[in-house]
Amino acid sequence: MENGAVKPVIVAIDGPSGTGKSSTSKAVAERLGLSYLDTGAQYRAITWWMVNNGIDLTDPTAVAAVAGKPEIVSGTDPVKPTITVDGVDVSGPIRTEEVTSKVSAVSAVPEVRTRISELQRSLARAAAAGIVVEGRDIGTTVLPDADLKVFLTASPQARAARRSGELKGADVNATREALVKRDAADSTRKTSPLAKAGDAIEVDTTELTLAQVIECVVALVEEKRAGK
Ligand code: C5P
Repeated sequence: MENGAVKPVIVAIDGPSGTGKSSTSKAVAERLGLSYLDTGAQYRAITWWMVNNGIDLTDPTAVAAVAGKPEIVSGTDPVKPTITVDGVDVSGPIRTEEVTSKVSAVSAVPEVRTRISELQRSLARAAAAGIVVEGRDIGTTVLPDADLKVFLTASPQARAARRSGELKGADVNATREALVKRDAADSTRKTSPLAKAGDAIEVDTTELTLAQVIECVVALVEEKRAGK
């Protein structure tokens, strides 16, 4: 880069649900002045649109046929990330149990993944200072040349406890079952499953506080930037 301009840094943070991906990714982006993209929100948004339009989600051909229809726009400010579908703010509706239970079926359809991955790549290219992108296949498929790849893990019990806390006291056992089921579907699908990239750094967050995970990832980005 000329004139001492800092090269944009691309950070991929993958892992199953409940590992602290969103909280960590947002905080790291904010601390380092980077953009932030929640790719799970995009898959939830397209699922919300399909449910609203009465698409038969058990039929991958029907899902594929309309994958290009909804216009999904993500705002990448880590302080106030936004998501709209055809101009409608869906940040609340995409978190319902109905969408959560159906998103894995929609995200397994290759035409959906191609469409959403293109959006993700163009947002990453547009981020002037760089971006933290969180998801399931960012390091393996969407941005395989990312400067830093982190794979967050935690025990199923810790993940369920965190999620049921977020869901304001939902039953931990039921939450754990739903999480394990969704992770199994996401990890075993044919097209770009949830997986750790060979060059990703794995961080087990089971015994760590959120603040410790954030410190750890910020330090890893700074090391990369310093060329270590
Ligand atoms: O991260 P979140 O729980 O919001 O993701 C919702 C769903 O979106 C996941 O269960 C998965 O089916 C899908 N997803 C995906 N690839 C990504 C991000 C999310 O398939 N990169």
